[in-house]
Amino acid sequence: MRTAEDRLLMEEIIRIKQEKSIYIIAHYYTKNEIQDMADFVGDSYAMAVAAKNSPCDTILVAGVDFMAESAAILCPTKMVLSPEPKATCPMANSVEVSHVSKFRQEHPDGLVVSYVNTPAAIKAVSDICCTSSNAVKIIEKLPPDTKIFFIPDQNLGNYVASELKRSLEFFPSGCPIHTAVTREDILQRKAEHPSAQVLVHPECIPEVAAMADYVGSTAGMLAYSSKSAADAFIIVTEGGIMHSINKANPGKKLILAREDLVCPDMKDITLEKILYSLINLQTPITVAEDIRVKAAIALEKMIEYSSN
Ligand code: SF4
Repeated sequence: MRTAEDRLLMEEIIRIKQEKSIYIIAHYYTKNEIQDMADFVGDSYAMAVAAKNSPCDTILVAGVDFMAESAAILCPTKMVLSPEPKATCPMANSVEVSHVSKFRQEHPDGLVVSYVNTPAAIKAVSDICCTSSNAVKIIEKLPPDTKIFFIPDQNLGNYVASELKRSLEFFPSGCPIHTAVTREDILQRKAEHPSAQVLVHPECIPEVAAMADYVGSTAGMLAYSSKSAADAFIIVTEGGIMHSINKANPGKKLILAREDLVCPDMKDITLEKILYSLINLQTPITVAEDIRVKAAIALEKMIEYSSN
């Protein structure tokens, strides 16, 4: 339920972003009211492309830290603002440069594919980045006999490996929100809603992905639910996506697989923080130039491989 205070904050945000010409990009996992007043809402891949194509010289990224960093890496001449720079991703922070160095020592001809959920320093030592919407497409294009180190999401890596029937070396990490979903959760929701289709994010464990009618990114789920003739969906990802799916499909029933599918870092971004950020141009996100240049190569390569 939107309060009068929320409505006032949203009006003020819209007024200031127009006055200062600031482009707001938000992730599907942010709060509903943030998705409603953003200029662009998307998954992490679409957010990176939107930052690159932003019509404004200042961009505010409503998402966790690696998303704002990706925008800063891709847009060195633009100012990138984060309304809450402490909002982060525990999975992204689990992998270190030393893990990549060890792989490179053991496999000098190997390739490192890093999920976009990584800090800039990891992207800088990676050969290419990927997101959940393009990981299969990207790895499919890499030389078949080359050893690949996929970091840091083991579940996404497992999904790609099984789709491509190709073995990958994984890093033992995962998203604490998605990995909480169990097979029993899905069985329970299916028993309650037998005709509902199950849409699963590939960050979920393989046993859960195996029960899906569709496995894909948040953007993929949105597209699938709009095209599908089904009138009910069990959503197995962070609950924020329900808002965008609901807006696109007002007559369809959405059931979240578990009530606690909530990313606290994404929900740490609020209208109040966005308004403060716009007024004070805080907090600018910068990446050391030597790291930025190398990280940009991995991100640009991802965009190139995804778009053809
Ligand atoms: S939902 Fe998971 S992967 Fe996404 S930002 Fe939150 S902790 Fe990280």
